[in-house]
Amino acid sequence: MSQDDHAQGEVVHSMHGWNLVRSGSPFASKQEQALAAVFEAFFPYVVERLHTLMPLQGASPAYVVLGGRQHCHQWGVNPAKAVGFHAVASGPHEDEEGGEDYFEVNEHLLCVVNIETTWQEIRNSPGDELEAALVTMPHEMAHVVAWTLASQGRSPLQVFDDGGGIHAVKAMLEAVEEGAGHRGAENGRWGHAEDEVEELGRLIAHEWVTNDASRTPQWAGFFSALQDHSRRRSPRP
Ligand SMILES: [Zn+2]
Repeated sequence: MSQDDHAQGEVVHSMHGWNLVRSGSPFASKQEQALAAVFEAFFPYVVERLHTLMPLQGASPAYVVLGGRQHCHQWGVNPAKAVGFHAVASGPHEDEEGGEDYFEVNEHLLCVVNIETTWQEIRNSPGDELEAALVTMPHEMAHVVAWTLASQGRSPLQVFDDGGGIHAVKAMLEAVEEGAGHRGAENGRWGHAEDEVEELGRLIAHEWVTNDASRTPQWAGFFSALQDHSRRRSPRP
């Protein structure tokens, strides 16, 4: 990943083939910055646990981007709905003449944690939603690993180039679902991968919150930023 890759940013952590990328454009609020810092503190824990439970396959590096709206737009994801996503290919776009649709297929193994929408969800929910929010990171990373299991570590673009275009990429996504489904019940093919990555995500987030999170300065920093936010929203009479 080059520095001028507009959707990306700075790699701030690398381990076991995973790279954490801090968005090139800073987050607007102190709370979003504090939330991104919590995810940065969580990242090494997620990598270690995934490396034990579900290691990345192949030699290609994988990227986790702490991002927001710009990354959603790049990959054709509705920013209001996605707290995170595995960026395989963008949806069809019209070209500049309004003509043929095309897909942007990712040259990287990459997922995005949408810090901006995650913060919106936390501030709109009463109570402590941070553990639920943290699930996104291991969830999306598990989607990436599932992809590498099915693709022998190839990126979406390599699958595209090797196997006949966007149809090969879509077939690979189906293979990911099928591979995951072998461990599931007989609820049909679709949805199993989703259940499995969600279960794994919840497990890892819960472990970290229970054992390690409160010892990190980032965790305290987020709650302090949250308090500042609440004070501003409900001033004393
Ligand atoms: Zn998912």
